Order: sequence, then structure tokens, then C-alpha cells
Amino acid sequence: MCYILEKEGAMEKHWIKKVRYLPNIVCLVGAISLALGLVECSNIGEKATIIQEPLPYKMDALKPYISEQTMRFHYGKHYAGYVDKANQLLKTGGFEGKTAEEIIALTAGKKEYTSIFNNVAQAWNHAFFWKCLKPGGGTINAEVADRIIKSFGSFDKFKQKFLEAAKSRFGSGWTWLVLDGDKLKIVTTGNADTPIAHGLKPLFTVDVWEHAYYLDYQNRRADYVRQVLNHLVNWDFIASRLKSKQA
Ligand code: FE
Repeated sequence: MCYILEKEGAMEKHWIKKVRYLPNIVCLVGAISLALGLVECSNIGEKATIIQEPLPYKMDALKPYISEQTMRFHYGKHYAGYVDKANQLLKTGGFEGKTAEEIIALTAGKKEYTSIFNNVAQAWNHAFFWKCLKPGGGTINAEVADRIIKSFGSFDKFKQKFLEAAKSRFGSGWTWLVLDGDKLKIVTTGNADTPIAHGLKPLFTVDVWEHAYYLDYQNRRADYVRQVLNHLVNWDFIASRLKSKQA
């Protein structure tokens, strides 16, 4: 009898122990489910065509000309938003295995693909724009200097022409230095439009959407573009684009 009572007491303790550990078990099951969910999400990510390019410098590296706050919103919210939206739209199918450049070429000017074009082109334009900037800018390679002087007369004239183009772009858009055949040109595009949809080879760009400068410069777009041109142009990137066979 005594033995049975002891056994029952032990059983009771055993269940109390189990109940005590129940929250831990629930947490463990939850953690496993979450892990499985994350694995599934990462599989979905692998299927996505557009990737979010890493920023080639720290968020605060472009200060004082572009603030960390602007970069956190611009890179972390606006650019990330275009990449996410592009991947959501691409899930409907039809563009499997295509690069962003190919998707842009296939959707440009087609009304039924406007949303895909806008988001993929914006993702491409932004990925390109991050590479166009460099803290401190760096020095201008002789070949680039020669091409700019031959095309625009002088560096100051190049900057002035680029600035005027940026100011004249009505609403949201981009200002670009491009190669048209073998000629250097300054062009602008509206909204998400991009030179690669028009057979032009981009060498450099400045994003002139308000989200790119409003926190730092409010309505003073020209001041923002001037500071970028004077302090943040990645001249090495322009030199590599001039040599590259890539569109
Ligand atoms: Fe932008």
C-alpha cells in the first residue's frame, strides 16, 4: 500500500513536471514551425529573379552630402520595395530564368506589363545608382577626363549641362550620362524609365526622385545634384563602364 502511494506520488510529480515543461515544449514546436516557415521563405527567395544588391558602402558613408537617414529610407524602404514588388509580380510567371535587363527589354512600352516594367526597371536603376556613388569620389582616370572634355568642352561645362538636365526633368526621374553608340550624352528619363530600354549604355546616373533628396535638401534638387557631382561621383565606375562590353 505504502509502495502504491509512493508510486502514485511519483506519477503525480512526473505529470507536474510534464505540465511544468509544457510551455517549453510549445515553444520548441513553435520554433521548429518558424524554422520550417523560414526555410520555405528562403526557397521562395531563390526563385525570385530580382535580387536586392548590397550597398557598396555604409549607410552613413555619403555624409554630409547624403545623410544616413536618407540612405536608410532610400535603400532600405524605396529600393527594397521595388525589389519586393518586382518579385511578387514575377511570380505570375512568364519570365523565368530572365535577367533584369532581359525583363526590361521584354516589357518596355507594353501596357500589359507596365507594373512589371516599372518595378524591375526601378530595381535596376537603383542598383546602378548605388554603384555610381563613392564616398570622396576618387580621382578621374585620364581616358574618362579626355572623353568628357572632348564631348562637353570642359568639366565645368559637363557639370553645368548635367545639372541643367536634372533641373529640367519634370516630376520624378533620373539624369544620366550615357553612351549613344560611341558618343557621350546627357539624357533624362521619367519615373522608372531607363536608358537600357532605349538602346543607350548608362555610364552614370543621379536619382532625381524626391525620395532621393527631400530629407536633406527639401525642394532644392539642384543643390543635391551639385553636391553629388562635386563630391560623390565614382569615377572608377564610369571608367569601368566605358570599357565594359555589358549593356
Ligand atoms: Fe530612388
